[in-house]
Amino acid sequence: MIVTLDDALTYDQKSANSNHLFLLVAKVQQAYIYSERLSDLINAAYDKKKRAAKEGKAVKRHTPMWIDKEGKLIESVAPLVRQAFEDYAAGLGERRICRRLRESGHELLQTINGTTVKRWLTNTTAIGNWGEIPNVYEPVVPKELFYRVQEQLSRNKDQKRSAPTAYLLTGLVKCGHCGRNFNVKKHPNTGATMQCTSRARLTLDGCSNSKSIPKQLLEHIRVKTSLPYVERALAGQLLTEHQKRKIEIEGELEDLSKRIGNLANTIAAIGLVPEIQEQLEQLQAQRKQLQDERLILDRSTDDAVSTNTIINVEHDYLANDPIKLNALLQQAEYSITCFSNGEIWVSGDEHPWKYKGYDRSAKSYVYEDLGQEYRLLMLRPEHQELLDRVNKQPLPEPTPEFNDLLSLIARGHRRRGDDA
Ligand SMILES: [Zn+2]
Repeated sequence: MIVTLDDALTYDQKSANSNHLFLLVAKVQQAYIYSERLSDLINAAYDKKKRAAKEGKAVKRHTPMWIDKEGKLIESVAPLVRQAFEDYAAGLGERRICRRLRESGHELLQTINGTTVKRWLTNTTAIGNWGEIPNVYEPVVPKELFYRVQEQLSRNKDQKRSAPTAYLLTGLVKCGHCGRNFNVKKHPNTGATMQCTSRARLTLDGCSNSKSIPKQLLEHIRVKTSLPYVERALAGQLLTEHQKRKIEIEGELEDLSKRIGNLANTIAAIGLVPEIQEQLEQLQAQRKQLQDERLILDRSTDDAVSTNTIINVEHDYLANDPIKLNALLQQAEYSITCFSNGEIWVSGDEHPWKYKGYDRSAKSYVYEDLGQEYRLLMLRPEHQELLDRVNKQPLPEPTPEFNDLLSLIARGHRRRGDDA
């Protein structure tokens, strides 16, 4: 039994003896002609667009702001857009990226907002596509970075992190009793301290942890312990050529699957016409090729990113971009947890540090690490400001042989117990 959609007539055995049958034959013919025409139309439109695109003609379309009216990449804004993608891949949020873009002073970026930035991040025009058609525009970011951002976007869907702030430690120092963040509190004559947020609010659900820990000590602990985490987080971002290609392949495969899915819908709607079948076979062949390439990459070995590269990048972040370093550390799930008895636990460590109080005569903070007592000369607020200013100066190129960061890595390994 067949029911055609447009007249709701039912055709069955009885139809065979009636005029209905002729009607049905006519309808089938009509449907075939219709689908032929439809696919011709689809292909004609596609070919025309593609031809125009291939010939490098300006394609009239709503394009992102880094493409000008002639369809050309605006060189002055391209590095800033690329920076935005890199910042997002490094863990910064849209709002912060937005602010950075506005602060760049570029006239095209003065009214940029978070929603726009979010749209950029998923817009394939960034890698030169026009919709599904590749190589129409000059790409503003490499494919590898674009797909890394897509991964970061899907990761961010399922986790909520504290917004990275100007204080490197914010969001990294937690209360061991209630789990909330520790906040920085400044004092006129002594160094800044950090304490539990809910304690500071003094509400009923406030926390029993009233211990204030010197910010300077927490920074000291951060410097001594965080490098292995930075190393791990950066390893995911500083990719080898193999890894970059693999990310590209994953992204392209996902695109192909979507396009194959779209074609399948078209086939379901208008039937398997030769042109569509040809396109489908092409896409399937492309998919097979990429899958084979991925297999080869999986089987071959690749040089890892060198520790020196990672140290240089960390040095650069520390000097020029503590916000990014904060984001990286959050991403690597680095945390410092403080308890009211003065114990300070660094994530992953098996022994706590301990804050034992302020020694007035020595003007020092007293703390314990691995059973041994140490003193840290307190920086007065004015000294701290001076130090912050000095820290903001760009560092000279680090020389890894004498780099104390290397010893920090070794220390990180020792703390984790793998003797090297
Ligand atoms: Zn608390």
